[in-house]
Amino acid sequence: MKTIAVAPSTTVGRLAPSPTGAQHLGNARTFLLAWLSARSRGGRVLLRIEDIDSPRVKPWAVRQAVEDLQWLGLDWDEGPVIQTERSEMYAKALERLIEAGRAYPCVCTRSDIAAAASAPHLDHESPLYPGTCTPWRLGDAVPADDSYCWRFRVTATPDSFRDRLRGECRFDPLAELGDFPITRKGGAAAYQLAVVVDDAAMGVTEVVRGDDLLSSTIRQLQLYAVLGLEPPEFGHVPLVLGPDGRRLAKRHGDTRLSTFRAAGIAPERIIGWAAASAGLVDREEPVTPRELVDQFSWSRLRRDPVTVDGERFLAEHR
Ligand code: GLU
Repeated sequence: MKTIAVAPSTTVGRLAPSPTGAQHLGNARTFLLAWLSARSRGGRVLLRIEDIDSPRVKPWAVRQAVEDLQWLGLDWDEGPVIQTERSEMYAKALERLIEAGRAYPCVCTRSDIAAAASAPHLDHESPLYPGTCTPWRLGDAVPADDSYCWRFRVTATPDSFRDRLRGECRFDPLAELGDFPITRKGGAAAYQLAVVVDDAAMGVTEVVRGDDLLSSTIRQLQLYAVLGLEPPEFGHVPLVLGPDGRRLAKRHGDTRLSTFRAAGIAPERIIGWAAASAGLVDREEPVTPRELVDQFSWSRLRRDPVTVDGERFLAEHR
């Protein structure tokens, strides 16, 4: 009998919840799409807990995020990898950025930046960094202890990447995004640095996440380049919004997965809603993630955001 050798898939995707609160319907939808994208290519899925946002991280939320994913039927092959256990790797990467002349200590406070900012910036972003601390060069004195964060020096050349859903995305890093923090005051890694170090170290080949992070991708691509790391592919999926068109929040009713779970709603109903709202199926009906693997395709995904009202959702899915 002839045997056919099938090359193992090299696709590696990841689920990366932030335990800063409960995971909600929007997170479930993004997790499903990230999971399906990897599984539909026969790929592996990693779980990473993004718990470095220390003042906002809730210890109960780590466990709850893991339970939510299990409940939804989204499995993983490796992890959970915990970001707070990886500070040494982040520190090494920071060292390289400093040595490359691309990071400088910044003593500006939020209000300093807001007061000095005049250039236009993207709606959802904080004001553009006005450049107060940019003259610092390697060898200059470093300010006292906890009074500064490390900030990354972006290039002034426009940069672009191909998004799986949106196609070509182009940004001018300096004019639109500005230099950005890669650590907090005190030196612990900030999101942009940690996520690049982790995705590269974990061999992630595709990052699927909410499109609120589109501009972060341009920032992260600059970090990949300076660190000499291979960037993954990206797919930014539309966020779930409240009925008022704003990002899903408490005022839009209770959309926590843990609430639906406690109310006895079947996880297949959540997955069915997520799949229909994303354009993967024509009619909303209960379904498991596994049952969707064969029909997943990026070309089917809708690009427009979906809106949801917590109370109505609960009433309709009971
Ligand atoms: N931890 C982030 C979140 O829960 C996702 C970050 C990422 O995918 O890069 O929104």
